[in-house]
Amino acid sequence: MNISKQTIEKLYTTRNLSDEELLSLLACDTWDALLFSLADKVRRSVYGDAVYIRGLIEFSNFCKNNCYYCGIRAGNTGATRYRLSPEEILSCCKEGYRLGMRTFVLQSGEDPFYSDELLCHIITNIKSNFPDCAITLSVGEKSRESYQAYFDAGAARYLLRHEAAADALYNRLHPASMSASGRRQCLKDLKSIGYQVGAGFMVGAPFQTLSDLIHDLRFLQSLDPDMIGIGPYLTHSQTPLHMHENGSLALTLRLLAILRLMFPHALLPATTALATVAPDGREKGLKAGANVIMPNLSPVSVRQLYDIYENKNCTGAESAQCSDILRIQIEKAGYRMVTDIGNVKRPL
Ligand code: SAM
Repeated sequence: MNISKQTIEKLYTTRNLSDEELLSLLACDTWDALLFSLADKVRRSVYGDAVYIRGLIEFSNFCKNNCYYCGIRAGNTGATRYRLSPEEILSCCKEGYRLGMRTFVLQSGEDPFYSDELLCHIITNIKSNFPDCAITLSVGEKSRESYQAYFDAGAARYLLRHEAAADALYNRLHPASMSASGRRQCLKDLKSIGYQVGAGFMVGAPFQTLSDLIHDLRFLQSLDPDMIGIGPYLTHSQTPLHMHENGSLALTLRLLAILRLMFPHALLPATTALATVAPDGREKGLKAGANVIMPNLSPVSVRQLYDIYENKNCTGAESAQCSDILRIQIEKAGYRMVTDIGNVKRPL
């Protein structure tokens, strides 16, 4: 079907479109400029010009899973593995705090070395040293009891991309031991415990069609998350899907703008993958509706080792230590860098 200016205005006013309209919109670049300017208008109406900064600590690249697209999958015997100790994680937080950060995102592969007890110890330790900071976890699929224990220890936010809402696509990207429904159940558990929850997916993942993306948008509508992380799929030579091309910058930006219009209150990161696929990807992401950046706070010696995809952008303004460069980039894009805790602003 043909997309008209009225369709875009309908998305802006009603925050929704039919499947058919969304499909056509995803396939068409004619309205990108209007989409981006409306997304910017909506983001400014909820969050002003703030871009929230979260310090990202990638504390282990060991993973028991074998996602077919991911460079740190268990089956990649060529990966150099590392783990950070609780003391090393805490010293990353100290550095972040010194730089003004008030949110720390602890991400890792699914690494059984970090028992619930050890993770709770790490969370409690960070909270007691930095009571004015928020802790976001992104450590994969766990039992409801484990999620509850982390929450009780002081983690208030959790990022778990659903990856693909369409079962058939999910099953082509993951081994049979993993399931889309299991992942969705985790997200529901996290929400019911009281976490601020982030879901999301890769754009241009191998085998992904535009109809798959409609499934993702509908799933997100049913979940109503606080954060939505999307970024282009990027290849890694040591994975079974290495022959597939990178996802596109253009489609990722269009989706970011659509997400901003459908979920005005959502915290939307301009991801490292976006900054990796194009040198100005992050700035373009902000202009398309993104309002979060997660600079890397991991020790410099391990940054390249957390290589879920190749050529990861983690040496320049990406790193937390280059916050002046980051600030200038954000200001050049027309926004303001904000290092405070930056909670989601849900309508009352
Ligand atoms: N283990 C945690 C989990 O399962 O959520 C967090 C770590 S996992 C590596 C973080 C995210 O990286 C995944 O949710 C996935 O979307 C993304 N990712 C993995 N491989 C990627 C690739 N080749 N290109 C782009 N993103 C990728």
